[in-house]
Amino acid sequence: MTTTYKGGCACKAIRYEISGDPLRSVDCQCRDCTHESGTGHASHLVFLRADVKLTGTASTWEMTADSGNIKTRGFCPTCGSPVFMTFKAKPDIFSVRAASLDDPSVYKPQVVVYRASGYVWDNIDKSLPNFETMPPV
Ligand SMILES: [Zn+2]
Ligand SMILES: [Zn+2]
Repeated sequence: MTTTYKGGCACKAIRYEISGDPLRSVDCQCRDCTHESGTGHASHLVFLRADVKLTGTASTWEMTADSGNIKTRGFCPTCGSPVFMTFKAKPDIFSVRAASLDDPSVYKPQVVVYRASGYVWDNIDKSLPNFETMPPV
């Protein structure tokens, strides 16, 4: 059964509705994610862009990953919440933050990436498969 995933930013100016199931659920400990999240990792649910209905206007900024890929981070200009991320090299993919979901408890991380740049104080689930950097696709 397909679930509808709903969520958005803290002040509700940005909202999304996603009709498909996540392709991947990833805890990422890369420096970009720690810096931007303010804590030890960011939790991402990756969906097909075609399944996503987005309302409201996000501010965006681009960063270059270690891999050389350009990531675009979308956040709310009013409340500052990080909401989504898109990838220049993979325009069909749309990733949202687990805590932006109306019900974040549905997030089930499958994998941890960029373990090598994680911090010991970020007590992430050690039983999950993990990768030093990005796993091969
Ligand atoms: Zn907001
Ligand atoms: Zn990351």
